[in-house]
Amino acid sequence: MAAASSVLLKPARIWSAGDGLREKMHVLVEGERIAMIGAELSAPHATCVELTDCTLLPGLIDAHSHLFLRPYNQTLWDDQVLKESESYRTVHAVAHARATLMAGFTTLRDLGTEGAGYADVSLKRAIAEGIVPGPRVLVSTRAIVAAGGYAPSRAKYRDDCCLAQGAEEASGVDEVVRAVRHQAAHGADWIKFYADYRVGPNGETVATFSIEELRAGVQTAHDLGRPVASHAISDEGMKRSVLAGVDTIEHGYGGTRETFVSMGAKNIAFLPTLAAAESIAEYFHGYSPGKTEPTEHIRNAERAFRLAREAGVTIGCGSDVGVFAHGTNWRELELMQRCGMTPEECLTAATAVNAKILRRENDLGKIEKKFLADLIAVPGDPTRDLALLHAPRFVMKGGAIVRDDLERNRVKCEAVQPPNCATIKESRA
Ligand SMILES: [Zn+2]
Repeated sequence: MAAASSVLLKPARIWSAGDGLREKMHVLVEGERIAMIGAELSAPHATCVELTDCTLLPGLIDAHSHLFLRPYNQTLWDDQVLKESESYRTVHAVAHARATLMAGFTTLRDLGTEGAGYADVSLKRAIAEGIVPGPRVLVSTRAIVAAGGYAPSRAKYRDDCCLAQGAEEASGVDEVVRAVRHQAAHGADWIKFYADYRVGPNGETVATFSIEELRAGVQTAHDLGRPVASHAISDEGMKRSVLAGVDTIEHGYGGTRETFVSMGAKNIAFLPTLAAAESIAEYFHGYSPGKTEPTEHIRNAERAFRLAREAGVTIGCGSDVGVFAHGTNWRELELMQRCGMTPEECLTAATAVNAKILRRENDLGKIEKKFLADLIAVPGDPTRDLALLHAPRFVMKGGAIVRDDLERNRVKCEAVQPPNCATIKESRA
């Protein structure tokens, strides 16, 4: 076997959840994994990367993304789903994946292609094969909605139009079970249900699946080894999701204290998507952060976040990026801080907590020996200022350097390129 490539990273300090900041620690990467962490390591065979004044941290994880969507203030969701071909949306998704990785988000759980079929499975494959750059992606393919329980709304268009939908429709236990099996067979890592949607008589959010349907779907997914994510905004949709035994609840803006307590008791994680709530308010309700009062939607999202914290629910970092620009996933961490978390708690949510939610706590989310070398470096100390995450200087995924703005600082400047990993150098102005 050929010797694995070795890289010795020399940041000013490292940060990893549980260990806090450690000064003057070096990290030796062999092949795709972390081989050693220690003070002033020497590794004559390795390429040295001086990350002067930088903090090295685990690659960030966003546990709720949509690589196949882009901001609705550029193109409305209906127009993306109804007017754009799957191939055109895939080209966008490739660019989104690249922007995500360059921003230091090295893992995503992508929660539905929103009408772009199973294209996420192919994108995940192309990234894994090194054909295009991007984060590790856990995919959920088409996602599952109750028949008539999603969008585009048939009431908004001519009734003789056959409208493509943003997810796979299913009605009744048999169809739900069938949809789960199909999506798993096509490559879904997670199964995503929409437990509710804005289909009440006046556009209110109402629960769309019966408890029996949800239960059967969750059971089938679990039998197939797939965890379940549930989009639930109403308290009723959340309650049914809890009863059905889902693994994560997304959004949860309408959750009551009682429901969050039951989530905590059943160890169901919460992905608050605060950045999505803010973006929607900006696009459609004239909200301007810091200039106008928060909308009711934003206040609900913040209230839910606080209730979840008080109830001791596991809170991950899931932004719903795609609603807003890919590569600005860091917005979610800043909003979590605004709602009361410390920067360190936010960083923990986006690394170790998310890794646990994704069942990857044994190889992702921490700087630890034998873990995958997904690492980023930012100038200064991000436990004091999360804004430093806006511009990582260095990004490594699986031992491959994919971004290095400090390249001149390398001692032995040779390409570090383990098999199956593309090296992309950011063009400098
Ligand atoms: Zn979403």
